[in-house]
Amino acid sequence: MIVVMAPHATEEQIKDVERRIVDWGYGVHPIYGAERTVIGAVGVPEADKARYMESLEALPYVERVIAILRPYKFASREFHPEGTVIDVKGVPVGGNQIALMAGPCTVETYEQTWESAQACREAGATILRGGAYKPSTSPYSFQGHGEEGLKILRDIADKLGMRVITEVMDPRNVELVSQYADILQIGTRNMQNYDLLREVGKAKTPVMIKRGMWAKIEEWLQAAEYVLLGGNKDVMLCERGIRTFETYTRNTLDLSAVPAVKELSHLPVIVDPSQGTGKRSLVTAMTKAAVAVGADGLLIEVHPHPDKALKDGAQSLTCAHFGQLVAELRPIAQAIGRTL
Ligand code: PEP
Ligand code: MN
Repeated sequence: MIVVMAPHATEEQIKDVERRIVDWGYGVHPIYGAERTVIGAVGVPEADKARYMESLEALPYVERVIAILRPYKFASREFHPEGTVIDVKGVPVGGNQIALMAGPCTVETYEQTWESAQACREAGATILRGGAYKPSTSPYSFQGHGEEGLKILRDIADKLGMRVITEVMDPRNVELVSQYADILQIGTRNMQNYDLLREVGKAKTPVMIKRGMWAKIEEWLQAAEYVLLGGNKDVMLCERGIRTFETYTRNTLDLSAVPAVKELSHLPVIVDPSQGTGKRSLVTAMTKAAVAVGADGLLIEVHPHPDKALKDGAQSLTCAHFGQLVAELRPIAQAIGRTL
């Protein structure tokens, strides 16, 4: 169950509620918000819930107590009826404006990243994507430049007034990547890496969790719950395609997951049509569809010379193509009352 403290509740009153829950023998997971504190009580048996809820609700400094039956609580819409808007150093993710995240799959060189970033910025992207630590199916393919790549991303983003999203793969690197990144990306292969999820849950940097290519929506939301439970409430989700029997596309981009997750959860949902299709020729159509179904943001791979890309060239847009795509998206966003 979740205890929503009254907005005027003092520190002592918050502690009092926490103490009661601990005394009953249950786990306490507070989230101290700017406006109000909510306290998750974990492990309360169904049979005792009503009694405990009643006794907490009687306290004048408790606004309400919510029983949540789903396997995720903090990620659920019941817990937070309004959609969450994450402030990425002044760039909102969630809310009316659709966040445009674009850049190369991988940071290869300064010049390549610069060319891509500049074109993306010019077209309207506010968040620069790019991998410095690359998860690769093959141990022989490029693994990324590591910290050098992070430095390149940070430098270019600062020069262009952009934010940085980049992947962190290893719990031991969360602190390091957080020094350079504005959003920590959890890749599809790591969606159920619980040590990593717990570690980014302790970070102060927003987190984007990609859907595991095998993961059910409920499992994906439980991955988000790990991070939220750790105290990091700036969590967004990213649909990037799942494995099906179809091999013509690299993945099957499950766009029905967008409205489904938005029904179940308050977290912003991003769509990645690049990994989602694996084919440049399909990216425009699927991006348009993503906007139409209510995506809160887009993550798109753009390379100045896709034919020379070290990774994911086949799905990367050219700089000109990206500009064209954004122009075509604007009327679609407008038609559903949103801005780009
Ligand atoms: C990527 O964004 O380049 C990437 C590796 O994504 P995913 O984890 O979805 O494969
Ligand atoms: Mn990629």
